[in-house]
Amino acid sequence: MKLGILGGTFNPIHYGHLRAVEEVREMLELDKILFIPSGKPSFKKPELADARHRFKMTGIAVKGSPHFGISDIELKRRGVSYSVDTLGRLTAQYKNAEFFLVLGIDAFLDLPSWKQPDKLLSLANLVIISRPGFSFINLLTSPYLKTVHKKTMERLDKADVPDFYKSKNVFLCKITGLDVSASSIRRLIRDGKSLKYLLPDSVESYIISNKLYKGSEK
Ligand code: ATP
Repeated sequence: MKLGILGGTFNPIHYGHLRAVEEVREMLELDKILFIPSGKPSFKKPELADARHRFKMTGIAVKGSPHFGISDIELKRRGVSYSVDTLGRLTAQYKNAEFFLVLGIDAFLDLPSWKQPDKLLSLANLVIISRPGFSFINLLTSPYLKTVHKKTMERLDKADVPDFYKSKNVFLCKITGLDVSASSIRRLIRDGKSLKYLLPDSVESYIISNKLYKGSEK
């Protein structure tokens, strides 16, 4: 089984996440995508909804696809969850799976500050996806992308249809650009604006009924 992994805070989950992994799933012929909402951070982060709410919203959103699933592996863990530990536990759990770790360019740029990035990359194929505001060419200096040439990055940055490049266990995927972020959604909520067409209606209803992101929730 080819298993895609998308970790995130999902604060809240939106169509930028959902469409991205749907395209990756089709392009790389993955069998399933597992969404992994992060648990409680070690220090209080302003605007971060409780892990239970983020888990529930993600669960509601992924219900729409038979190919999507959700894992509570980070929710259940006490203390900080490091991706390398999460992936290590998942590889032990899904013995017959080949893993594809999906990261937006922005997330990949942070990789050097993560715990044991080399070990993390040894556990899975790496799938870097495009995101509006970021270019593959920004990855040129990354110590973790030595086998990808500048010309390939430039070609993908210019591509106007979904496309991908593979080099060993690294994939660069140019996907349809949806300029949506959880932070822009939280800003719209604070400003009392509509969220329609940025995230599933069911997630919007959950946010409204639980009064999330209005500044008063824990
Ligand atoms: P925030 O705005 O709060 O920082 P976010 O929208 O970036 O949140 P995360 O939960 O931090 O969402 O993202 C999880 C993963 O999904 C990351 O790898 C991120 O790069 C990717 N991602 C999020 N939004 C998009 C998008 N619109 N297009 C492509 N990838 C995305």
